[in-house]
Amino acid sequence: MTVGEAQGLDGDLARAVKLVVLDVDGVLTDGGIYVGVTASREAVELKRFDSQDGLGVKMLLWAGIEVAMVSGRVSEATSLRAAELGVTECHQDAGAKKLPIVRDLLERKGLEWGDMAMVADDLADLPVLLRAGLRIAVANAVPEVTKVAHWCTRAGGGEGAVREFSRALLSARGEWERLVDEYVEQRSDD
Ligand SMILES: [Mg+2]
Repeated sequence: MTVGEAQGLDGDLARAVKLVVLDVDGVLTDGGIYVGVTASREAVELKRFDSQDGLGVKMLLWAGIEVAMVSGRVSEATSLRAAELGVTECHQDAGAKKLPIVRDLLERKGLEWGDMAMVADDLADLPVLLRAGLRIAVANAVPEVTKVAHWCTRAGGGEGAVREFSRALLSARGEWERLVDEYVEQRSDD
């Protein structure tokens, strides 16, 4: 396990990635779930996502890498965030059984486990994480996840961990600087 972007990601592992699977709670969020009711007594569940992570996800998509969100909870907040980011593969299973979801996803895309990176934080991720070609743990991951990770973010879930991973992955592939230049150029017109 390597910690932090200073050490960089292994170039061979990074270049093999065609699909990034992101866990949601604890990876795209800090794991907190705001539970309450509206004035009309409708149950409502809110999550706080990180805007820098959002651009990190888009950078992966612009680089031609597939991105999927796979959650062990069912929440409208997750669907809304996926739609906002243009992530069409958003899957939520109340029983946290992620393996059949990802196996089906790989089959539909014609990909192998080795083509896939996963960013994870907790035990529900392990069945998929252990099969992934590139295994990433966020800073707040439980020890069982950190132990099997190739690389560990310095940032915690919901606090830029996905952005840090996106930058590290694309840098290791030699694509980050070009994507940044394109992003800035496209926003420099009058
Ligand atoms: Mg999680």
